[in-house]
Amino acid sequence: MEQTIRICHMYPDLLNLYGDRGNILALAYRAGLRGIKARVTALSIGEVFEPEQYDIVFFGGGQDAEQNIIRADLVQIKGDAVKTAVNNGNVFLCICGGYQMMGEYYEEFDGTRIDCLHAINIYTIAQKKRLIGNTVYESDLLRAGAAHNCVEPRKLFGFENHSGRTFLGEGVRPLAKVLCGAGNNGEDGTEGAVYRNVYCTYSHGSFLPKNPAMADHLLEKALKQRIGEDFCLEPAECEVENIARTSASTCKRG
Ligand code: GLN
Repeated sequence: MEQTIRICHMYPDLLNLYGDRGNILALAYRAGLRGIKARVTALSIGEVFEPEQYDIVFFGGGQDAEQNIIRADLVQIKGDAVKTAVNNGNVFLCICGGYQMMGEYYEEFDGTRIDCLHAINIYTIAQKKRLIGNTVYESDLLRAGAAHNCVEPRKLFGFENHSGRTFLGEGVRPLAKVLCGAGNNGEDGTEGAVYRNVYCTYSHGSFLPKNPAMADHLLEKALKQRIGEDFCLEPAECEVENIARTSASTCKRG
C-alpha cells in the first residue's frame, strides 16, 4: 500500500483566500490517521508542473487581481500539463477562483473577459452583488465510508464569497445541490462541478476540515489512480469534525 500521498499546492502565495491552505492540512491529517505521509509541493509562477509527480493537485481561491496575476503562467506555462493531468484522471480540488480558472473564461463585472484554462466546460460571469455567507450543500457522490461516524456525511458545510456566477456546460456535473446559500450562481440550485477526477467548489472556510467524507473521497480516488485498482481507506473517527459540522449546520447567513 502506498505510504505517501503527493500533493501539489498551486500558487499558495496568491490563491489562498479564507485559509484555503487548510484543505492541504486536512488531507495530510486524514492521510496521517491511516499512517500515510503527505508530501506537499508548492508551485507558483515560473515553476514547472509535472503531472506524474503528484496524486492530488490543489488550487485555492483568490481575488480578481490575483487571478489576473497567475493567468498567463497558468494558461501559457502550466496549461498543457494541467490539461494532461485532468485527462489522465489526476485528482484536483479547486476552490472558488481556482475553480473559475479551470473553465473557459471568467468575465469580470466591467465586461473584461479573462481567457482561462479550458480544462473543464464551465464559464463564469461576475455580477456586482457578491454572494457571501455560510453554506450547506448535499452531494450524492459522498457516503460515510471511511469517515467513521461522520454526521450526515453527504452534507458539505462551507462559506462562500464570490462575485462570479458559474454555469456548467455539457459533460460537467454539479458536486452538490444547494440547501443553504447561493452555490454556483444563485439561480439553478447547483454547487460546484465534477469532471473526471476534478472536484470544484465555491466553499472556502476552509472546506475539507469540516467535510471529512469529502477529504477521504479525494484521498481514495488519488490512491486508486496511483495503484491502479480500487482502494478503501481504513475508517477514521470524525469526532472533532462533527463538532464543527453541528455548529455549521445552522447556516446563519448574517
Ligand atoms: N475573484 C473571484 C470572484 O469574486 C473568486 C473569489 C474567490 O476566490 N473567493 O468570484
